[in-house]
Amino acid sequence: MTYYVGVDLGATNVRAVVADAEGRIIGTAKRGTPRGPTGIAVTEAVLGVTREACDDAGIDPEDAVSAGIGSIGPLDLAEGAVENPANLPDTIDRIPLTGPLSVLLDTDRVYLHNDTNAGVIGERFHSERNPDDVVYITVSTGIGAGVCIDGHVVSGWDGNAGEVGHMTVDPHGFMTCGCGHDGHWEAYCSGKNIPRYAYELYEEDPTVDTDLPVDDPDFSAVDVFQHAGDDEFADYVIDQLCHWNAMGVANVIHAYAPIVVYIGGAVALRNPTQVVDPIRERIEEMVMVNIPDIQLTSLGDDVVVKGAVASAMTGGTGDRARL
Ligand SMILES: [Zn+2]
Repeated sequence: MTYYVGVDLGATNVRAVVADAEGRIIGTAKRGTPRGPTGIAVTEAVLGVTREACDDAGIDPEDAVSAGIGSIGPLDLAEGAVENPANLPDTIDRIPLTGPLSVLLDTDRVYLHNDTNAGVIGERFHSERNPDDVVYITVSTGIGAGVCIDGHVVSGWDGNAGEVGHMTVDPHGFMTCGCGHDGHWEAYCSGKNIPRYAYELYEEDPTVDTDLPVDDPDFSAVDVFQHAGDDEFADYVIDQLCHWNAMGVANVIHAYAPIVVYIGGAVALRNPTQVVDPIRERIEEMVMVNIPDIQLTSLGDDVVVKGAVASAMTGGTGDRARL
């Protein structure tokens, strides 16, 4: 029998799955991502969940023929490692991945991707049409994209293609992004920045009547979406978010000409009618080329780990012709 391993290394959890020759998931395991002391502890957690997923599937790790990894970044693709991950403590400088996993599984076929590229591979693989031209956009703590065009998953020389959350959408730079620059899409619309943006909009006119707890240190994106429909100011904030989101997606469409755009990430998954539907409604006003299908991801929270397995099965591509 042929078996494949998929790993999702996130800032919160490490997950691994084992799939059989048909891609059916037959073993899973999950742990919290270690916060230190060093990157080696994270590497060990990746190896540990992979062993557990193999146990769960009733196979030996060496029975896997290949593996895919979808990981937080930034990546050092040449070294097969994560380098100074932004969302883990500073003591974690380097997380070796492909080398140690190759040793555990006794295979050279280990494909490393950033999480959005794993996402687009999963979307491509599981999409009915197995499209050559597809973009996956995550609207989560941050905003990013995985891009597959003309059948190629785009990574860039250093693996940083698809950082679309840092495209400038607001030339006036009303908001400053976490990266330090002004007017970036993510500075307005990511889960982390939505409450900051709502607060800044409120500060423009503090006399506005709203139930949003804008001054509460725990004020979050969840509050904004929960008050939708009952609170005029919350509706105004969401309308602004939709405006920037549609602009960001329109820019991505003009750059890449995808036939389908899948949108995922916690903000979109929890609020599809307030996040994804308005993009679809507004995009026609903003795009001069063919309008792609715009869909909520059908892979939910599993998009990265399913993409990692799909990568293992298709030589890092998501192309079902390569099965
Ligand atoms: Zn930025």
